[in-house]
Amino acid sequence: MDFDLFVIGGGSAGVRCARIAAGHGARVGVAEERFWGGTCVNVGCVPKKLLVQAGEYGAWAEDAAGFGWQIKKGPHDWAKLIAAKDREIGRLNGIYKRLLDNAGAKIFEARATFVDPHMLDVGGEHVTAERIVVATGGHPVRLPIPGAELGIISDDAFYLPHMPKRVAIIGSGYIAVEFAGIFAGLGAHVDLVYRQPLPLRGFDMDLRESLVEALGAQGITLHPGNRPVKLAADGDERVLTLSDGSALSADLVFFATGRAPATKDLGLDRVGVTLNEAGAVVVDQHLRTSQPHIYAMGDVTDRLNLTPVAIAEGHALADSLFGRNPRGISLHNVPTAVFSTPPIATCGLAEEQAAEHGPVDIYVSKFTPMRHTLSGRARRSMLKLVVDQVSQKVVGAHMLGEDAPEIMQGLAIAIVMGATKADFDRTIGIHPTAAEEFVTLRTRTRVAGVAKAAE
Ligand code: NDP
Repeated sequence: MDFDLFVIGGGSAGVRCARIAAGHGARVGVAEERFWGGTCVNVGCVPKKLLVQAGEYGAWAEDAAGFGWQIKKGPHDWAKLIAAKDREIGRLNGIYKRLLDNAGAKIFEARATFVDPHMLDVGGEHVTAERIVVATGGHPVRLPIPGAELGIISDDAFYLPHMPKRVAIIGSGYIAVEFAGIFAGLGAHVDLVYRQPLPLRGFDMDLRESLVEALGAQGITLHPGNRPVKLAADGDERVLTLSDGSALSADLVFFATGRAPATKDLGLDRVGVTLNEAGAVVVDQHLRTSQPHIYAMGDVTDRLNLTPVAIAEGHALADSLFGRNPRGISLHNVPTAVFSTPPIATCGLAEEQAAEHGPVDIYVSKFTPMRHTLSGRARRSMLKLVVDQVSQKVVGAHMLGEDAPEIMQGLAIAIVMGATKADFDRTIGIHPTAAEEFVTLRTRTRVAGVAKAAE
């Protein structure tokens, strides 16, 4: 065999796995056909957060007046922002590639497909490997409606030649909500079209309701319970017809309607790797596919599609195979954030999920952050704890408000460790912060899940 391990895909999961395996002394090859660092670095988390921050500066310039500053907010230069973003992404691409080089992995800038269970075609060259990892990620999908090709997907949003004035976004998951905030923050009028009554299906109900308030405060027009039916062009303008019979005119229509695992034309069928109905690679808890020497990790497995999960999986697999340290990772209590404006962060169970298991004590606090008492901006924060009544463990923490993701990372440690409400209560707050609310919630807001317990 040419390699002990061959990794297909140089994204978050693949790069970490290849790098750590090579560090353990394995002969490693890694192929990437598009860009080092994958979705997160190039057309995902990293550039997205830079654009979110760009939007925030506009609001800060306005808010400064409440603190005595006389700042005149000028126009925003989209081309300058995108050029600065591209420079940063280029720098990160280089770092990812160098990390692999320095670790001693052999790099292939080409597409890899299976020839047989141990052989890959990598840009026309045949290579053999003892073990193979599929870490090809996913890609955004449009809805199958007439004229869908006239709309963009998130990959395109990072390279728009101009900042659109009117944007219609379809969907209300992570990407839809984040880009709604970005475009609104940069001055566009945004319409958000989604089929649920509230955005962010699966998140805690109080978070979803608070988000509706926040989106409204940003001037975003919401179209709940609505689906797109067709998309047409009228010159440069796009016309999106909705299921309620209305039509929206926009400069840009954005499908933020989910992502599909990138498993097409890899030759996985040739080597007997099982896919599920969504086309994702099926893996066990050791990341093994239906072929014991072929593994898969990250978004291509479509379980928890988050970069830190992919990185943790890549590291754990490399340690397990070559580092004499067999280990898995837990997908329980994985904290996550939606970089809406203001952001959302969450860890553990939503109230509705926790109440399925029995009675839970619910603590909710809603308040105007100190900054906005002077800025005058209509922006509220919401934070919430879900506490299992029997064990008194905090099983869920949720926040919408400035710095929520930064705050949640620390809380997640406590939740992973099994902290109780009493542990939160005996922790002294840091004053004056929003975070201190999490340790000063004394009055129970309500009890949920009692009916379930009675069953
Ligand atoms: P999501 O799965 O989060 O959301 C998809 C949206 O599209 C939902 O609102 C869904 O509605 C809607 N949708 C899907 N099919 C249809 C349909 N046929 N008709 C109408 N609406 C439809 O996907 P995203 O594209 O937002 O993001 C993909 C994943 O990437 C996320 O789930 C997350 O794992 C990851 N991600 C993480 C980020 C972070 O950590 N901050 C940021 C961005 C992405 P419904 O809810 O009704 O199904």
